[in-house]
Amino acid sequence: IGILIEPIQRLVNFARLYQEGITGFDRFMEILEVEPDIQDSSDALELAHVQGKVEFKDVSFKYKEDYDFVLRNVSLDIKVGEYVALVGPSGAGKSTLCSLIPRFYEVNDGEILLDGMNIRDIRLSSLRRHIGVVQQDVYLFAGNIMDNIRYGNMDATPEEIIEAAQKANAHDFIMELPDGYETDIGQRGVKLSGGQKQRLSIARVFLKNPPMIIFDEATSALDNESEKAVQDSLEKLTDNRTTLVIAHRLSTVRNAQRILVLTDNGIDEQGTHEELLALGGTYANLYNMQLKI
Ligand code: ATP
Repeated sequence: IGILIEPIQRLVNFARLYQEGITGFDRFMEILEVEPDIQDSSDALELAHVQGKVEFKDVSFKYKEDYDFVLRNVSLDIKVGEYVALVGPSGAGKSTLCSLIPRFYEVNDGEILLDGMNIRDIRLSSLRRHIGVVQQDVYLFAGNIMDNIRYGNMDATPEEIIEAAQKANAHDFIMELPDGYETDIGQRGVKLSGGQKQRLSIARVFLKNPPMIIFDEATSALDNESEKAVQDSLEKLTDNRTTLVIAHRLSTVRNAQRILVLTDNGIDEQGTHEELLALGGTYANLYNMQLKI
C-alpha cells in the first residue's frame, strides 16, 4: 500500500495547489487531459499591478443548478487597503462569498469587480497571484517546513522564507523543532498544532506579498500562545493590504474598520462595531452570543 500512498498524496497536493491558485496545476491538468470548470476567456487580461478594490454587484450564487441559492443579490464594496470583517450566522455563506473572489466558483448572476474590472476578464493565474488566502484548515504538503512556506513564492530564497516566517511569528517555534526549517512535517513527520499550521500559512502569504488578503479565522480554540501570535501576525499582514476576514473572534471584529453582516437577506448591516451595537440588530445579537459561530 506504501506504493500507492505517495501518488495519492501528490494528487491531493495538486488539488490544493489549485485551490491556492498556484500554477503548475494547469500542467497537471494537461497531463490528465482534464478540462477545468473555470477557464480563461481567450482575451483575458494579465494584471501586472493590482490596488485591491473589490466590488460585488447583485451577485447570486448556487453550487449546482438544482440547489438553492446560497447568495442572493449580494452587493458590497471594499476600498483599497481597507480591513473588513465579515460576520454572520453559520451557513449564511461567508466562506462561499470569499471563495468567489479568487473565482473558485463562477457566479450565476451579477458581477465581481477587482479594481473596476470584472474578474471574468482577468486571467485566473493573474487574479490569484494578487490574492492571498489563509484558510481555517491549513493544508501542509509532504516535505519540510522550508518547502511548505516556499509554496507562497516558488522563487523565494531561504533568507526570504525565514523573513516571512519571522513576520508570521513562526520562526521561534520552527527553531525549536528537531531540524529547524528542515523538519519533516509530512505524514510521518512532526505534528504541528492548529495555530502553528496557521502561522505557516500566514508565512506563505507574506512571501507571496499580495495586495489583497482573505483570512478565514479559526473557529476552534487555538492554544494561548498561538492565539496571540496569529492575531499579531494578522495585524502585520493586513497593513497596507485590502483585507477581508471571516471573523469569529471579538477582538478581530473590534479591530476591523468596517463590519459586514451577511444573512440570508444578503449584506444586512454594515458599519463599525459601535455603530452596529447601537443598531441593536443581527450584529448586536451575534455579539451578545460572543460571535464564535
Ligand atoms: P460557517 O460559518 O458555518 O462556516 P458560512 O457562513 O461560511 O458558514 P458557507 O460555508 O459558505 O457558510 O455555506 C453556505 C451554504 O452553502 C451552506 O448551506 C452549505 O451547506 C453550502 N455549501 C458550502 N459549500 C458547499 C459545496 N462545496 N457544495 C455544496 N454546498 C455547499
